[in-house]
Amino acid sequence: MQRRPPRHAEPTSGRSGTPRPRYRLVLVAGLCVAGVFGAAVVLDDPRVKQFLDLRIGPGTRQGAGPGEGAVPGDAEAPPAAEVSTAAPPAGVEEAAEPLLTPAPPAVGSDAYHFLLVNGDGTPVGYSPCRPLHYVVNTDLEPDGAAELVPRAIETISAATGISFVYDGTTDEQPSAQRPPFQPDGYGARWAPLLIAWTTPEVAPQLKGPVIGTGGSTHFSFDGGPKTFVTGGLDLDAPQIADELLNPDGDKYATAVILHELGHVMGLDHVDDPAQLMYPEIGTPEGLSDGDRNGLYELSKAACRKDL
Ligand SMILES: [Zn+2]
Repeated sequence: MQRRPPRHAEPTSGRSGTPRPRYRLVLVAGLCVAGVFGAAVVLDDPRVKQFLDLRIGPGTRQGAGPGEGAVPGDAEAPPAAEVSTAAPPAGVEEAAEPLLTPAPPAVGSDAYHFLLVNGDGTPVGYSPCRPLHYVVNTDLEPDGAAELVPRAIETISAATGISFVYDGTTDEQPSAQRPPFQPDGYGARWAPLLIAWTTPEVAPQLKGPVIGTGGSTHFSFDGGPKTFVTGGLDLDAPQIADELLNPDGDKYATAVILHELGHVMGLDHVDDPAQLMYPEIGTPEGLSDGDRNGLYELSKAACRKDL
């Protein structure tokens, strides 16, 4: 079987047609696909709507952020999905200063895009002042893949200055309506980032050539600045297991995970094929200069004691 030319669909974003609620939680995500197309690399991937507008209803917390900014996205997004109105106490594990200090990229590059920006133009990311906990559903983890996620996390942590904390394995399954606050499962804090080795049957967005999805949910008060509070990364375990049979399969699988983590942190696709955030991974050599510069910019996200 010929080496697969992996391809990625464009991430999409959108908004509901309903008035902006006082509290918002919005998941933004990128889709990544791979498939066998012989020698041809087809660039016009079918786009799969991934954006989910998750809204928190009124009556949960009193927002006090300054008004700003437009709701992201386009008018073609599906209707908003209601999620739990509960939220954890503010400022859990939030320190006064960023926990890590990432080194500036050795080479400058503007070959990066953000999935979402605030009204003042700053990219939406995670607070660097608190750890980002993550759990992994390893039920379908392919043989030989155990180290792939930890290594990718280490790479992204170094590039973003986000301190990741592994909370162990989980039985939680991916869900488009995943509650961002699950006190019964994870305690009085935002739910951890869920990384799931899964299948298209469980995660329908993986159907067809899609090999993975990654995205995060942001929180804001009454139109104020947004910050990601949790996220999800779904990996098509059967497809990646097949890839791992190739001599360079671990490189390719790592590239997929890094690319998806790039989406989780807040990076969008770019037009430069040298970057890992390009919609295809032809030579899986890891992060390139544009990717690193984009992740470094995300490291400057505001700390949020109010979330
Ligand atoms: Zn992608």
